[in-house]
Amino acid sequence: MVKVFLDAGHGGKDPGALGNGLREKDIALAITMKIGNILKKHGLDIRYSRTTDVFLDRTDRATMANKAGSDVFISIHCNGFHDSSVKGVETYRYTSSNSGGKLAKAIQDSIILNGVYTVNRGIKTADFDVLRLTRMPAVLVELAFITNFQDAHILKKRQDDLAIAVAKGILSNFGISYNEDGGTMIYKVQVGTFSIRANADALVKELKTKGYEAIVVIE
Ligand SMILES: [Zn+2]
Repeated sequence: MVKVFLDAGHGGKDPGALGNGLREKDIALAITMKIGNILKKHGLDIRYSRTTDVFLDRTDRATMANKAGSDVFISIHCNGFHDSSVKGVETYRYTSSNSGGKLAKAIQDSIILNGVYTVNRGIKTADFDVLRLTRMPAVLVELAFITNFQDAHILKKRQDDLAIAVAKGILSNFGISYNEDGGTMIYKVQVGTFSIRANADALVKELKTKGYEAIVVIE
């Protein structure tokens, strides 16, 4: 099972960036939980650094992911800047390694393709603690600028669209297709494969006599 570690940025005494009446820590947590719910419905194993408004050290976040043995680490943030005209989405991977590059591209592309944004700031590299200290492909997504009026509106009103876009990117990184209906899975149990029809019919008959529902599916 694919193990994903989701890290909602900031929390507790650390509100992160502030703007347009919003706090980064609240937006990051709300969208992170939505991403996790979508991924869970697709059968992924989800761990969180935080699910409530608590403060966590950056190194603790990486340690938690390493201990959980997660396959990927995704940190969710929003940007802030003194110039309120700056807006857009950007995804970071670690400076000196290719690790996380594929994942960063999958997520960034998905957010752009989903049409949530007009501004694509691209994939960037950074020596962030959470990217350096994690032992799995790790990325940090800056969903939008909380300090920009238009972006703040997206962060507040289009959280589901953002969550779907990020989840789609994570799923595509693992070759899993996104299921529009929320990822409800149908599990089939196969008990036999035959090249001779009579043998398949015989097994169906046997299963039915034992009280199981059984049909022959031709492939
Ligand atoms: Zn942040």
